[in-house]
Amino acid sequence: MKMKTIEQIAAELQGYDPGALRADAVNEFLARLVEPLRETERVGVFEALGRVLAADLVSPLSVPPHDNSAMDGFAFDGSQLQPGQALTLRVVGTAYAGAAWQGEVGVGECVRIMTGAIMPAGLDTVVPIEFTRTEGDAVTLPAGCVQTGDNRRRLGEDLMAGQPALHAGTRLGPAALGLIASLGLGQVSVRRRPRVAFFSTGDEILSLGEAPREGAVYDSNRYTLFGLLTRLGVEAIDFGAVKDDPASLEAAFRRAAAEADVVISSGGVSVGEADHTKAIMRQLGDVAFWRIAMRPGRPMAVGRLQQDRHAALLFGLPGNPVAVMVTFLAFVRPALLRLMGAADSAPLYLPASSQEAIRKKPGRTEFQRGIASRAADGSLQVRTTGSQGSGVLRSMAEANCMIVLAHDQGDVRVGDRVELLLFDGLI
Ligand code: AMP
Ligand code: MG
Repeated sequence: MKMKTIEQIAAELQGYDPGALRADAVNEFLARLVEPLRETERVGVFEALGRVLAADLVSPLSVPPHDNSAMDGFAFDGSQLQPGQALTLRVVGTAYAGAAWQGEVGVGECVRIMTGAIMPAGLDTVVPIEFTRTEGDAVTLPAGCVQTGDNRRRLGEDLMAGQPALHAGTRLGPAALGLIASLGLGQVSVRRRPRVAFFSTGDEILSLGEAPREGAVYDSNRYTLFGLLTRLGVEAIDFGAVKDDPASLEAAFRRAAAEADVVISSGGVSVGEADHTKAIMRQLGDVAFWRIAMRPGRPMAVGRLQQDRHAALLFGLPGNPVAVMVTFLAFVRPALLRLMGAADSAPLYLPASSQEAIRKKPGRTEFQRGIASRAADGSLQVRTTGSQGSGVLRSMAEANCMIVLAHDQGDVRVGDRVELLLFDGLI
C-alpha cells in the first residue's frame, strides 16, 4: 500500500488551512496519516500489562466451567416450591467448593452446599443458610424465601468456550491480565511497542548538570515527554538536548528517524524562530507546519521523516513546556494509540460545572490547567489553577485535569458546564 503524502491528506480534508487549523481537524488529519504498526509478538501475562492485544482472544474454556452455587446454603430441586407454602427437606450430603457431591438426591431431599461448589445433578436452586431453620437433618424454608433458579451461577455465565474474551485492539489493564490468566493462558499475542525518540532543541536550553547562565533555562520538556511516553507504554528513547545549529539538528533528526518509529522534538517551530529546525525538517521529510487555532500550543509541525527506506512519524512540538503537554495530550497521544493498534484512541471528556468565570474568545480551543473535585451534590466541579501565563509548569503540576473550552465557546460564567480531561488515566 502506498502511503499518502501530507499534501494528499490535506487535499482530502474540507477547508484545510495550515495557517488556521481547528484542533479537531488536527486529529482528523492524524487519523489519516497514522497506520497501526503491523508486527506482533507473544508475551507472558505479566509483560502484557499496557500492551495492545493483536487478535481476538478466544476463550478455550467456559467460565464458570459448571453450574455452581452463589451462596452457602442448601441446594434442591426448585420444582418442589409451592406458592405461599413452607418446604421442609432432608439433608443427604454436603457439596464443597472443589469437591463435587456425587450421590443421588430424591424428592424431599437437599444437599448442604458451599459457595462455588458444583451444583449436584438435577438440582437448580440454592436457599441461603440464613433463610432456613434446621432441626437435626431437617431444613425448613419459610414460604416465599426463594424462587426456582435462585443463587445458582450457570455454566458459561461469564464466558462461553469459543467466544472472544477480549477483542483485538484492547489495551490490557489489570482486569484483562486477570481474565487472561483465569482462562489458563500463559501468553498472549500483542502488537509491537512503538519506539519513540524525543529531544529538545534551542540554544538557550541547559541540560541538568550545566551551570545556570543568563537567558538560559533548564530543559524540562524531555522529562515531561519521558513521563508521558512511558505512562502510555511506548518505548521512549532520549536523544538529549540539541543545539540550534544546522549540523547538530540534521544529525539528531537523521539518527532519531533511523532508530525510531516516531520522532518528537520540542522547540523551534514557531514563526519567529531562527529557522534551522523547520528547514531541516523540510529537507529530511514530508512535513506540514501548522498554526492551530488553540491556546496554548499554536505552532506544530507534523509529517514523516524519510531515513534509509524507513519513514518515521514526526511531531515538532512547540517549546513552551505547558504547550508540550497540551499538544501531546490533545494530538500526539491519540496518534500514538492509533499507531499502537488501540481500538479506542479518543480521550474521555467529562462534563463539570465551572466554579469560576473564565474569559474565552470564540474561534480557538483553549486548554486551562484545572483542579476538579466533587461538589456537595456529588457532581463534578472544576476551578482553574489561577494564572494561565503559558509557561507555568508549577501550576501544571498542581492541576489534576485540563479544562477544554471548545472552539466556538465564548466566556464561561460561574456554574456553566465545561468539559475536562482528567490526568489520572492519561498521564
Ligand atoms: P520555542 O518554541 O522554541 O520558541 O520556545 C518557546 C519557549 O519555550 C521559550 O521560552 C523557550 O525557552 C521555552 N523552551 C523551549 N524548549 C524548552 C525546553 N526543552 N525546556 C524548557 N523550556 C523550553
Ligand atoms: Mg526556540
